[in-house]
Amino acid sequence: MKSSASTNSKRDCSGTVATTDAATTASGPLALQVKEKARAIGFDLVGITSAQPPRHTPEFQQWLSSGFHGEMGYMAKNAGKRVDPSKILADVRSGVVVGLNYFNESPREPRSERGKGTRPTTARIARYAWGARDYHDVMSEKLKQLASAIDECGGPGTRSLWYVDTGPILERDLAQRAGIGFIGKHTNLISRRLGNWMFVGEVLTTLELPPDEPEREYCGSCRRCIDVCPTRAIVAPYQLDARLCISYLTIELKGAIPVELRPLIGDHVFGCDDCLDVCPWNRFAKFSRAREFQRREMPPLTEFLSWDEQRFRDFFRGTPIFRIKRRGFLRNVCVVLGNIGDASALPALEQALADPEPLVREHAAWAIDQIQSRCLGTQSAV
Ligand code: SF4
Repeated sequence: MKSSASTNSKRDCSGTVATTDAATTASGPLALQVKEKARAIGFDLVGITSAQPPRHTPEFQQWLSSGFHGEMGYMAKNAGKRVDPSKILADVRSGVVVGLNYFNESPREPRSERGKGTRPTTARIARYAWGARDYHDVMSEKLKQLASAIDECGGPGTRSLWYVDTGPILERDLAQRAGIGFIGKHTNLISRRLGNWMFVGEVLTTLELPPDEPEREYCGSCRRCIDVCPTRAIVAPYQLDARLCISYLTIELKGAIPVELRPLIGDHVFGCDDCLDVCPWNRFAKFSRAREFQRREMPPLTEFLSWDEQRFRDFFRGTPIFRIKRRGFLRNVCVVLGNIGDASALPALEQALADPEPLVREHAAWAIDQIQSRCLGTQSAV
């Protein structure tokens, strides 16, 4: 997601010295002013890097040629731009990388239970999607403001483009180089101040700014994230086979979930935080100031199966879950019920056998088989 380039003709960058986040602060009045603006807009982390190609370009190309991106064709389509910021914005000089903390504690999930899931009859949803708003929208609003502020700082002729998540940028690479975090063995960005729970966005700009020092890597000999992954998707440190990742299977994959992987999905109905939850750097997590990401209540899993298109839209519009549409979400609900449901889930699943979506019908049939097998096993054991 990106904005169109903007230009400004006036310079208005007064401000006090900002609190900064990069490992070593980029000095200079313009850099300090840009960081001050980022803070004022609401970002929790901000750092500055050069417009050099990302350091991990060879690894990214190897990842693509291994086919680890699965159906995410857009990753390969924009590969050339991802590894060369100048192909995105001519005359680019700097990247301003920001982080927004989304850590929230569930009212139903005491600290001691964090990361262990919720009641088995309710949806287990990746933390970033707990709230009532899609982070793309929240980040976009803030990045748009930051891009305008940078253009004002640069004066006439300055051009800036902002991106969050879907832009053709290796953003975690830029984020590490800008000093706001480091890429962990699970391939996500980790902040030594905030742990694993942050959205990352960036503004590429023609404004020349002094870069911050890159962040070091701090995984050491730890391998908790690798060992905890239910599908063994982290095939080696810093290498994720997305085709096995539960986040990919429940969000990016549009069609049927491979039968052999369904039992490994457990109770994850949208995304997965398992590799993030176990990371020891989360001991530094702090609650987010952004209210948009606070958890809202979800109905029992079986109830979703009775929802028509309109009901689904009314409840999920504007949230990350809306992205996978009703058919994708009910597919996931069926898989989870197949994994953890008991006989009480059968009426809802049997109703789903008549769903207008073949994808839902097929996954409902699978779930019924799973539950009936378990029930039979329990009876014969008694
Ligand atoms: Fe690194 Fe351990 Fe965190 Fe994985 S769990 S990202 S190995 S520190």
